[in-house]
Amino acid sequence: MPKAKETLLEIDLNALDNNYKYLTSKLKPETKVLAVVKAFAYGSDSVVIAKELVELGVDYFAVAYPHEGETLRDAKIETPILVLHPLPTNFGMIVNRCMEPSIYSRKMLEEFIAFAEEKNQTNYPIHLKFNTGLNRLGFVADDVPYITETLSKTQSIKVKSVFSHLAASEDLKEKEFTLKQIERFNEISDALVAKLGYKPLLHCANTSGIINYPEAHFDMVRTGIGIYGFGNDPEENKHLKPIGTLKTIISQIHKVEIGESVGYNRGFIAEKTTLSATLALGHADGIPRSYGKGKGWVTINGKKAPILGNVCMDMIMVDVTNIDCEEGDEAIIFGATTTAEELAAAINSISYELITAISQRVKRVVLRK
Ligand SMILES: *Cc1c(COP(=O)(O)O)cnc(C)c1O
Repeated sequence: MPKAKETLLEIDLNALDNNYKYLTSKLKPETKVLAVVKAFAYGSDSVVIAKELVELGVDYFAVAYPHEGETLRDAKIETPILVLHPLPTNFGMIVNRCMEPSIYSRKMLEEFIAFAEEKNQTNYPIHLKFNTGLNRLGFVADDVPYITETLSKTQSIKVKSVFSHLAASEDLKEKEFTLKQIERFNEISDALVAKLGYKPLLHCANTSGIINYPEAHFDMVRTGIGIYGFGNDPEENKHLKPIGTLKTIISQIHKVEIGESVGYNRGFIAEKTTLSATLALGHADGIPRSYGKGKGWVTINGKKAPILGNVCMDMIMVDVTNIDCEEGDEAIIFGATTTAEELAAAINSISYELITAISQRVKRVVLRK
């Protein structure tokens, strides 16, 4: 890859292929794969990623909100799309674009049936979401008789899948809790399937569920963070490759004398003569202010350059006193060397938060095989 000349997020499709193949190697051959491409495919580019995943043979996509799925449909992606958080105001878009809603409450089930009937739909695919312990979205076990009763009165919709979401699949200290969630899911799905008279797909594993709980793979798994290169586990990370590398360049270098300051609110005051490099990205690009004052760093010519003072909207300043560098040189924020997981950990955050925050003004560049 040629050196960056501006701020870029490089997206490496070879890494995506590697991660997809690694994760699916853990599945039985018949287990289906749903790729979670919400939030611009975790801050990368949902269309680019989805098209590659179609090539790799993915069975399903999931997005959080319908507009995210519409972007995929506009790009002529025809794979089924599960919408995890379809607000009733968007039912029209969902049906028009052949997306499939997650239905998680009685109110929503009734509203969606009314909508589907009004639009003369038959067997419109829906996905029933159950709460087994996350306490975020979902029906509970006691809703099963109500659901089957309600479904028996309409031809407008059909249950394509029944699913739940694990709260702590990456945390083996919570193994007992997770096994309890899986047990509840088994009980709920058994009760439902017995009444439905047909067998929807069952799924409850996210990436860490794929890795840590083979007994929770069921008919399909849902992977997000894993395909983007993070396994929430150091051993797993050895097999996965981060798909994104965030780069920028040095715009200017300043010599800062003792007692002088750098940046807003004089966030850094030099105790010795310091070389400060100004880089072309800031909090508006997705680098939170909490990385300021040395909490965060970038890599320039192979060396760590800590952030000096406060993160500005469009720029950060970093300490290059001991780094051989000049204006125009590349600075790497995260990628293979400093991973997004490692950088996120510096402010008690997680890879998910850092990568999904990379703002839309950062140019995406795709590296193809
Ligand atoms: C975001 C999301 C996922 C993906 O989880 P990862 O940990 O990124 O694999 C799976 N299922 C649901 C319901 C989600 O909201």
